[in-house]
Amino acid sequence: MNCIFCAIAGGKIPSHKVYEDEHTLAFLDINPISDGHTLVIPKHHHENLLEVSEDDAMSVAKTVKKVANAVKKTFNADGVNVLQANGAAAGQSVLHYHVHVVPRKENDGLKLWPPTKRLGHEGSEMAEKIKENM
Ligand code: 5GP
Ligand code: ZN
Repeated sequence: MNCIFCAIAGGKIPSHKVYEDEHTLAFLDINPISDGHTLVIPKHHHENLLEVSEDDAMSVAKTVKKVANAVKKTFNADGVNVLQANGAAAGQSVLHYHVHVVPRKENDGLKLWPPTKRLGHEGSEMAEKIKENM
């Protein structure tokens, strides 16, 4: 399999690692959207959140929390976004589960969420349908 993040996890291609434990790795994104933009991955290959094992999902979540605190402190950030894409339609470009940890400053100008309109009565039916698929 030709996976860039498996190659990074296996030390076959270089990265700026910031944290590593038995199940996860955190390293700087090569195209950061802010200083300290870090990616957290499981060492095992899973395509995305929809496929990842619960154990690896838990391990990644713990590392995300550690990294979020560390980058906030390091860059004196005012906040941190945690972002994650699943599937091409959602903007996923690397098909190995990863979570973006992005330090934010007040008024840094990054626009990550579009304006929207308030949910209406259709919410009841939507919620019921989702519950059926849980
Ligand atoms: P996605 O668009 O799949 O959510 O995010 C993939 C991220 O991986 C992008 O932000 C991209 O900059 C980063 N990326 C792609 N290739 C490499 C690489 O070889 N090294 C590092 N450090 N980051 C990469
Ligand atoms: Zn992989």
